[in-house]
Amino acid sequence: MAEKRSVVAIAKELDPVTGKSDVQASVTKVFDLMGGVTKMIARGDKVILKPNAGHAEGPETAVCTSPEVVRAVIREVKKAMPSRIIIGESAAIGCDTLECFEVSGIADVVREEAAAAEAAGEKVKIELYDIKRDNDLINLAVRDYKSNIKHCKIPRLLLEAEHIITLPIMKAHASMVFSCALKNIKGTVQDQVHSTMHQQNLALAMMDVWWAVRPDINIVDAINVASGFSPHTPTPLYVGCIMGSKDPVALDLIACDVVGIDTNAVSYFKAADEAGLGVADRDRIDVIGEKVEDVYRKMWIPYLGDMASRWPEWDIRCEGACSSCQALLALNMETLKALGLYDEKSDISVLVGPRNELPDKPKEKIMLHGNCTKRYQDKGLFIPGCPPGETGLYLSIKAGRVVDGEIPGDIENYIRPNMEADHPVWEAYVNKKAEEFYGMPVEQLAQH
Ligand code: SF4
Repeated sequence: MAEKRSVVAIAKELDPVTGKSDVQASVTKVFDLMGGVTKMIARGDKVILKPNAGHAEGPETAVCTSPEVVRAVIREVKKAMPSRIIIGESAAIGCDTLECFEVSGIADVVREEAAAAEAAGEKVKIELYDIKRDNDLINLAVRDYKSNIKHCKIPRLLLEAEHIITLPIMKAHASMVFSCALKNIKGTVQDQVHSTMHQQNLALAMMDVWWAVRPDINIVDAINVASGFSPHTPTPLYVGCIMGSKDPVALDLIACDVVGIDTNAVSYFKAADEAGLGVADRDRIDVIGEKVEDVYRKMWIPYLGDMASRWPEWDIRCEGACSSCQALLALNMETLKALGLYDEKSDISVLVGPRNELPDKPKEKIMLHGNCTKRYQDKGLFIPGCPPGETGLYLSIKAGRVVDGEIPGDIENYIRPNMEADHPVWEAYVNKKAEEFYGMPVEQLAQH
């Protein structure tokens, strides 16, 4: 039997007058390369668009899918004459989806497109949908589950729609190294499942949710991507592409190639490959449209590289740690540098991953980061999670105790005030690092 192959389409259409990206033309080109929207979607179908709008951040940050990309996809999908186009999201834990839609600019676009369709007498209904607020859920048993998600409550609407189009923006990501089509699935579940996913191996948990919710079309916003210490302190970078595929694994792999990310160092491809979710072998992926080398732009992604020797003043023990915990290690160690705590605290040892010996030190001088280090929990300060929360390590080092949000009132009284006070210092540090990497001011990196 012939081996399965996948196709990834890349479009980079420019406005001939301004020389800037023509988002609509690129979206249409990608759909055409994939066979044409009317071949993929039938008249009267219900179509869910799942952008990445998990945080209340504006379009200039590149944290959420650009509203103009959402608009272009709505207009393209409309050509197939569906009955409904539903723009759905379940924002990150602690975030309000409707606020995220408003701040990201997506709500305005959806209202404008809905009003235009109505004014033109079109039958299609275009609407926003907060997955978190939906009470009509089906409790699915996950077959061959890879994590401990044996059952998963999924809104009926997601299961009954004829098509789900994931619409991620490409970005570097503190807890997964990078985020694109595969990770966008996290925004299809409500907080309870979301929180369960974070208490175990997140990459495997994502595969279980992919089993339950199966988007059939993936379109990537790679016009301005979020590089650097994204998603919380992103450095937007112009790449100028729209990419598309029916295979989220192949798409993410080629997306990494476009921005120069070493996929061998990203553990979530291994999980996707083992789950049989798609093709993770470049020899079996056909790239059509633009060539990768013609649209290549190296992204600054500080979450990869040798973590054991990157901070020689510290005793970092990270043998066997997977890429998620390594990325968090990078984020937190650099935060300590930015805050001027790096030298002062360097007598502390940090253990990450399953294969590390315990140093001979007092308990308060040993940070145990992540569930892999739980066996030593009586001998150091243990930060739970797989991976743990994104800022847990630096906040715990700063406070001299475990800061993981478990103490009642700690989030309001310690975590948020500290993060707010630290952010401007951290942001200035990140901008300086970004300018060193790219060799130009951060304001010139993105296209606005
Ligand atoms: S706790 Fe262990 S398995 Fe989980 S993300 Fe960290 S290193 Fe990986």
